[in-house]
Amino acid sequence: MNLKELSPEFKEITGLESNTQVFKTYLAGDWISTKELEEVVSPIDLTTFAKVPRLPYEMVDSTLSRISEKGKWEIRDLPGEKRLRIFHEMASLLDRFRNDLVEVLVIGNGKTRAAANGEVNASIERLIRADLDVRKLYGEYVPGDWSSESLETEAIVRREPLGVVLAITPFNYPLFDVVNKFVYSTVAGNAILIKPASKTPVPAILFARIAELAGFPKHALGVLTIPGKDMDRVVSDKRIGVISFTGSTETGERVIRAGGVKQYVMELGGGDSAIVLDDADPISTGQKLVTSITSYSGQRCDSIKFIFSEPGVYEKLRQTLLEELAKIKVGDPREDVNMGPIIDKGTVDELEFSVKDAQEKGAKIIFGGKRVKENYVEPTLIEASKEVVKSLYLYQKEVFLSVAVLVKVNNVDEAISLSNSRRYGLDASVFGEDINKIRKAIRLLEVGAVYINDFPRHGIGYFPFGGRKDSGLGREGIGYTIEHVTAYKTVVYNYKGKGVWEYM
Ligand code: NAP
Repeated sequence: MNLKELSPEFKEITGLESNTQVFKTYLAGDWISTKELEEVVSPIDLTTFAKVPRLPYEMVDSTLSRISEKGKWEIRDLPGEKRLRIFHEMASLLDRFRNDLVEVLVIGNGKTRAAANGEVNASIERLIRADLDVRKLYGEYVPGDWSSESLETEAIVRREPLGVVLAITPFNYPLFDVVNKFVYSTVAGNAILIKPASKTPVPAILFARIAELAGFPKHALGVLTIPGKDMDRVVSDKRIGVISFTGSTETGERVIRAGGVKQYVMELGGGDSAIVLDDADPISTGQKLVTSITSYSGQRCDSIKFIFSEPGVYEKLRQTLLEELAKIKVGDPREDVNMGPIIDKGTVDELEFSVKDAQEKGAKIIFGGKRVKENYVEPTLIEASKEVVKSLYLYQKEVFLSVAVLVKVNNVDEAISLSNSRRYGLDASVFGEDINKIRKAIRLLEVGAVYINDFPRHGIGYFPFGGRKDSGLGREGIGYTIEHVTAYKTVVYNYKGKGVWEYM
């Protein structure tokens, strides 16, 4: 598969090698290539469409030195007003190079054009909305009047950037996740090193070029194209003050173990639950649930994976789900389809394993469950009893594609309990009208966000999102991540003997 020709502004960071685009990567001011290259495969036909450098550790090490010695001061000493001006320029460049970015998101991620355009729009909006993050950059004043010991003192509590943020991003939003982490890290005055997913590194590289064109401080940004399995040494580096990670729970746990004492933002896996109450409208609820299950082929952390339904609405809901799923077209995302490919064959193998596991344990596959070809799969709906559901592989582990399990429960308490018994706690939805049941669910669900009469969607983060339990630490969302990428510094002023309190 070949990429269409990119805009001339990207010419100097790419070259052609037997018809495949070879990208350089950006390391704190320099565009570099390496002898060893990593192939990037399109999920559309599983052929190579690009190559990127495979960085040896020595290059990462010298980048870290440059970024922590020069870059972190370049960005910290740039007035906030100028940071925002650069973000605005970057937003217009994203729009100007929209066709390049959409092309890479379609070919590299198998997104439909509509989804790819949506990701570019979200990225533009996130850069513009950095002005709202700024409102969280204030410190505090603490008077010492509380005790006779501190009467003559007072403190100013400053918020300071922590220096260098290492942003580790997943494959599924390879542009937006990079932009989001870039915005909250750098608006707060940190330099940033981005480690994109090896399956989808190109959007991060194009973004670095856009940052460079917009005049972003050159030593304050780097894109590390190295395989995740080689990251332990980087993650543990003391020059990194914060790790902002989005990815699976398993990888996140490894990052924390290797990283040691640091500040972390951990956006991990899960898949969400929906609770459907007897008085929910089965038609609109079913339609929304199918949108959530199939959007980007279910490769979203906030995709619905479990539906716990009260008995009165169950049959109608089940029927709507089946009717709506039947409308979903799977195929090449460049054509008129709802679902493109899954990022790799391995995840589809995992679905086949989960389907077999579910059948063996007495659950029923009521829609899909089959591979269309290689890494293309139908959306899948499995019906399980409340007694069986907890034993399913799908209940214990996130399978990252379009699959959901439908379970009939007697009441909202059973639904809450089944949702809470999973190790994950990202978001949940509650559909229905009964305010008392809804309030009970809000109070008891062990999740980061509850969506009433809607499916979970993190969007650009107007509302904060992030998980509990094995779904993560910290929050992403406009304004909310500032506290994780900065540290308080308390400055205590002592006026004792200076005549300030002389009248006492
Ligand atoms: P992943 O396999 O866990 O990889 C995520 C990132 O971690 C990649 O850049 C990967 O690099 C890197 N990595 C792998 N091993 C590492 C190590 N030992 N040290 C440091 N970095 C390492 O996840 P994915 O398959 O790309 O993304 C899907 C997962 O992300 C799902 O579990 C989904 O739920 C989660 N997710 C969560 C949110 C949220 O907001 N909570 C949002 C989006 C996605 P390589 O690619 O080179 O291995």
